[in-house]
Amino acid sequence: MLLIENFINGSYCAPLDSTYLDNVNPATGIVISKIPRSNKKDIDLAVQSAQAAFPNWSASSQESRFLILNKIAEGIESHLNELALAETNDTGKAISHSRQIDIPRAASNFRFFATAAMQFASESHDMPKRAINYTLRQPIGIVGCISPWNLPLYLFTWKIAPALATGNCVIAKPSELSPTTAFLLGKICKEAGLPDGVLNIIQGYGTEVGEAIIQHPDIKAISFTGGTKTGKHIATQVASKFKKLSLELGGKNPCLVFADCDYEQTLKQVVRLAFSNSGQICLCGSRILIEERIYEQFKKDFIAKVDKMLPSDPLDPDCKMGSLISNEHLNKVLNYIELAKEEGGSILSGGTQIKLSGRCEGGSFIKPCVIEGLGPDCRTNMEEIFGPVVTLQSFKTDEQALELANCSQYGLASSIWTTNLNRAHRLAEQIQTGIVWINCWLLRDLRTPFGGLNNSGVGREGGYEAMRFFTEPKNICINYNSNL
Ligand code: NDP
Repeated sequence: MLLIENFINGSYCAPLDSTYLDNVNPATGIVISKIPRSNKKDIDLAVQSAQAAFPNWSASSQESRFLILNKIAEGIESHLNELALAETNDTGKAISHSRQIDIPRAASNFRFFATAAMQFASESHDMPKRAINYTLRQPIGIVGCISPWNLPLYLFTWKIAPALATGNCVIAKPSELSPTTAFLLGKICKEAGLPDGVLNIIQGYGTEVGEAIIQHPDIKAISFTGGTKTGKHIATQVASKFKKLSLELGGKNPCLVFADCDYEQTLKQVVRLAFSNSGQICLCGSRILIEERIYEQFKKDFIAKVDKMLPSDPLDPDCKMGSLISNEHLNKVLNYIELAKEEGGSILSGGTQIKLSGRCEGGSFIKPCVIEGLGPDCRTNMEEIFGPVVTLQSFKTDEQALELANCSQYGLASSIWTTNLNRAHRLAEQIQTGIVWINCWLLRDLRTPFGGLNNSGVGREGGYEAMRFFTEPKNICINYNSNL
């Protein structure tokens, strides 16, 4: 059985207390590896190694960082099959998803921020005939990156790459439910020439080792992606320590379908945005709002498609939908479906646990679920379920659509499906989400600001937003007027 280790100071090592956790493949229910149950002592060791590495790394040239980050991207690509298999075995997601989306995107993250290191520039502010100010953007020092299980290496690298590109040393923690690709990344970084101590990857429980990261006085910034409840806890903990904080949290994303949409294309894309990765993407649409004129027809056609979707063995190359992340999460999703019924909702499709035979008989599979008959204020429509569960609601006017869309404590992403460009622009301006897709979903340009409002988080990732987050701006004012 694979024994996963921490990666500290450029070497793999056992947790200092020698305690381990089981890592279960959720598609089979079988333990596939042991992972370190690290704690504060391991974080202290990682911080020491990062402190030793920081002076040289922060002073290294942009070009040398560019070359190393690019090599890491190449290393990820050359280990595509191994990483994709590890991602699927940890999470139960379809192997095609790991191969075509998760792992290629992890490589793109490194390549993108390698280039950003070369292009990043700071501002200058001229005071005519008196002085010039210029802004130095310096690395923060040691930063903590904490990521979730749904897109493991994809989101892990989305944080680590800009932190490294800007000259910081990193203490990073993946979810204990998806440890393997982060573990493998250590070796890839070492082979790419990343100096020892610059990236330290520590495994274990969020409440133990994650907590040690956020509490550590020498870790000056925290970049966190995960649930809103955890984000709230972290925000309260780090506020009094004045750490820089970026929070990418949950969502309850609306999808607005208008009668004048490109019908077939919209139908296909709404199925995709609802159920990709079994609905376990923070950007998935979970509240489908449909204009009344086409509600019945759209519902019928949508359900016909969803009825045909069956989860299967994620290692099957033709698998479109694998298992959920764990049995515990499956029970949470099933409980929400029961709640929806208690709240008066009707189940139009799926929503039941699926038992597969053979290799996957112990897996956590569920048939995608479509619910109607619930108003915007019920818990099913207010709380993030983070599974393959969507509700359908109808609206008559643009104003009603907007009201329903904005009736949420979350504000991460939305999508608008219409061929009326005026309406699309008008609604996009008024909708309260950090990201709005018009006639598309998950179309990502890595230069754009990424993040949400309200319960969906604070701050933005992506492009120069991430480069700015991981640097401390310092204004330097030079007087050139001797009469001042
Ligand atoms: P959690 O909040 O449970 O965990 C996220 C990470 O935080 C994990 O690595 C976890 O460790 C760690 N953690 C848990 N407790 C603490 C703590 N006290 N201190 C420090 N770290 C801690 O989220 P999930 O892993 O369940 O991820 C799903 C959530 O992530 C959903 O709400 C989803 O919407 C959100 N998400 C948001 C995205 C965005 O960009 N806005 C993108 C993707 C997901 P461990 O797992 O080991 O306990």
